[in-house]
Amino acid sequence: MRATAAVLYEVKKPVVVEDVEVLEPGPHEVFVRWAANGVCHSDLHVVTGDYPHPMPVILGHEAAGVVEKIGPGVETVAVGDHVCSSYIPSCGRCSYCIGGLPTMCALRDRPRWFMHDGTSRFRRNGQPLHHFLQVAGYATHAVLPEPSVIPIRADAPLDVVCLVSCGVLAGAGPVFNRAKVPPGASVAVWGAGGVGLNTIQAARLVGAGKVIAVDVV
Ligand SMILES: [Zn+2]
Ligand SMILES: [Zn+2]
Repeated sequence: MRATAAVLYEVKKPVVVEDVEVLEPGPHEVFVRWAANGVCHSDLHVVTGDYPHPMPVILGHEAAGVVEKIGPGVETVAVGDHVCSSYIPSCGRCSYCIGGLPTMCALRDRPRWFMHDGTSRFRRNGQPLHHFLQVAGYATHAVLPEPSVIPIRADAPLDVVCLVSCGVLAGAGPVFNRAKVPPGASVAVWGAGGVGLNTIQAARLVGAGKVIAVDVV
């Protein structure tokens, strides 16, 4: 199978848009056609070298698309399902997942630039390419581990809902789960960017009283 992907070969260099080979999905893996992907500063951190990462790599980690093929043993999604990416996969079976701490899942400690068997599903002239956070959203198509895709409503616009995969959850999650903002509480948000705007929206959603945005612009 083929995909067009933005490949980063070297830090501080532009990505290269090129044709790449995509291998068949293995057991408990899915092949997805990405429809949309947000641009997150975490992708830029890899480009600038702030986050050291093996190269070459296909970046992108807040993606939404449609499942086109599934590997053996896949049970949670089917061909045709619309999905969002999850860059911190949770297996649903380990003690953390069962105990209500899915973000601590044992899967997150494995290298997330390969599939769970430690190999890549992308090739360029025979060379393996790394999958950023097992998502590789800056490709038209990608193979992901089954726990890295989450089925969503088919009528959700993919170019909007892709943001839920990083910016929305990064901003809203702390309001719901960490700060547990109670109704009427005052909330100050430093930085009204992609994450901060979602913190503001979540604060409003839980009934915060005064919401203050602090931003240089
Ligand atoms: Zn992100
Ligand atoms: Zn788990």
